[in-house]
Amino acid sequence: MSGTFFDVIVVGGGHAGTEAAAAAARMGAQTALVTHRTDTIGVMSCNPAIGGLGKGHLVREIDALDGLMGRAADDGGIQFRMLNRKKGPAVWGPRTQADRNLYKNAVQRYLKDIPNLSIVEGGVTGLIRVGSEINGIRLQDGSQLIARAVVLTTGTFLNGLIHIGDRQIPAGRVGEAPALGLSGDLSALGLTLGRLKTGTPARLDRGSIRWDALEKQEADVDPIPFSFMTDRITTPQIACAITRTTSKTHEIIRENIHRSAMYSGKIEGVGPRYCPSIEDKINRFGDRDGHQIFLEPEGLDDDTVYPNGISTSLPEEVQEAFIRSIPGLEDVRILQAGYAIEYDYVDPQQLDLTLSVKTTRGLYLAGQINGTTGYEEAGAQGLVAGLNAALFAAGSVPTVFSRTESYIGVMIDDLTSRGVAEPYRMFTSRAEYRLSLRADNADMRLTPLGIRLGCVGSERRAKFLDYQQQRLDLFEALGSLVCSPNEMAAAGVSVNQDGRRRSAREILAYPDVSWSDVVKVWPDLASCDEKISDAVSIDCLYEIYLERQSADIQSVRAEEERAIPVDFDYSSLSGLSNELKGKLSALRPHNVAQASGIEGMTPAAVALLVGHLRKTT
Ligand code: FAD
Repeated sequence: MSGTFFDVIVVGGGHAGTEAAAAAARMGAQTALVTHRTDTIGVMSCNPAIGGLGKGHLVREIDALDGLMGRAADDGGIQFRMLNRKKGPAVWGPRTQADRNLYKNAVQRYLKDIPNLSIVEGGVTGLIRVGSEINGIRLQDGSQLIARAVVLTTGTFLNGLIHIGDRQIPAGRVGEAPALGLSGDLSALGLTLGRLKTGTPARLDRGSIRWDALEKQEADVDPIPFSFMTDRITTPQIACAITRTTSKTHEIIRENIHRSAMYSGKIEGVGPRYCPSIEDKINRFGDRDGHQIFLEPEGLDDDTVYPNGISTSLPEEVQEAFIRSIPGLEDVRILQAGYAIEYDYVDPQQLDLTLSVKTTRGLYLAGQINGTTGYEEAGAQGLVAGLNAALFAAGSVPTVFSRTESYIGVMIDDLTSRGVAEPYRMFTSRAEYRLSLRADNADMRLTPLGIRLGCVGSERRAKFLDYQQQRLDLFEALGSLVCSPNEMAAAGVSVNQDGRRRSAREILAYPDVSWSDVVKVWPDLASCDEKISDAVSIDCLYEIYLERQSADIQSVRAEEERAIPVDFDYSSLSGLSNELKGKLSALRPHNVAQASGIEGMTPAAVALLVGHLRKTT
């Protein structure tokens, strides 16, 4: 077969593709990132923001495995806010608005610095396959690239169709051609495809907004970075403004709702329920007197403003009329109309936990193509697919992420076991072990795994090992510092006056006791590094709950981590196909979690293996 050879080819330079390519290359695989246009690598298709509730956890987890998104968000973030601060730290949501160009440039800069990674500009029109194995891709110019593994991350581009009122424009995003051809190849592999849709609001000219009339929302005074590698945010922080729709807005939308692409029956795809268009909001919650809109500048030197909360597929003249009925936007100039987009996705139940297509060796899918929505969901899947594509190319055992250890694991398990009925988005409520899967401890949960896999660079490795030691040492030390309620009261800190001596760790478990209170009792602790003391304070707050949860987690993990003897005789497993016996014998997984990530391992095959291991080991 002629063509240029790689270990891994990643198709698509969006959020899934960049993480996939970077992860595969960090693992040492010769990797090609093939995308329509190199200048659009890392572009944010919709809202200029990273993180949020549940999504912020994913960014921290990507970062813990040395991915790009957290560092790029720190470089491009212009309004850091920790959401949900009134609730416990387990569900805090780190978020930042981002300067589109700074973010995109940062992603491109980080990619350039990664060895083993080639970036190829071009449209991919087809897959090269031999039997049930993918061997490469075909490009629009007729050339082909050969690889052991291919990761597809085509986003909203597969047969993408934009709708504005009754106008329909084939496109992947506004101004960019759709990807045609690939869907046919995926169907030919026997995969079931469906249609989904998403939408975006009009973009507004900053100079035409009456900012003085609007309420402001400022950034946090002391922004907390996403990345473990960022010490301090240095990008200037800006405010955004808040306004609301009015009864006039609702009237205009109601009068014209039949002209919305969403309501005229032109769209077959299902949209995200929790990220509704303004037409949906008026239709479903018509009795509300107004819907909040955040006016978010798209950059420090950019005159474009993103009105968060009014995505629409109404005709352009109706968009202008309803937007001008909103306070502060009476004279607004629209730079680009809002639109809805429909695209093909692949039912993710056809993937295994490594994001590999179960019936086709060497093909991985990640991002919006799997029925998700959002940069963070895409990036996290890209990381998993990229890591596993590199492991596959090297003939190594795959790696899977457990629901007990990460939001990444929760998402991939949800997608592959339940599929999607609408675009899937991460929420903290999807995780059963929320108290242990916190944004603040993502590094402690995942960086050791990344070090073992080989996807964490030497700089992060050294910095993390030092941090981990300090964090564990301080946690230990706090357990041996003990004082009585009287001694605490003398230091000005009140706890139950029951005469019981308590350790500093127990004292920090009281939600109203802070680190500064503990320092009043033990002044030597004042010299602790703030990053470490903040993290350990949260560990102490949750210690008692985590002890209760750990029994549950342990039993799930024990099953996943059940060791498989190196000389295990797979041929003795009656009920398992010869093909699976061959794969297991060749790859020799160390434990059940690894075995379940092997292509072709169904839940029934895993149950058979576990049953046999229980009896024999
Ligand atoms: P994308 O970011 O779409 O990247 C795909 C990449 O693949 C592009 O670089 C493209 O050029 C390349 N590509 C595709 N096909 C080929 C091919 N055949 N050959 C070569 N290159 C190819 N998310 C939210 O969370 N909230 C929202 O409100 C929201 N609204 C959205 C509205 C719109 C109009 C759009 C387009 C997206 C919206 N999103 C929203 C989704 C968010 O943009 C995506 O979830 C995210 O970008 C998906 O990342 P991805 O990497 O899967 O794909």
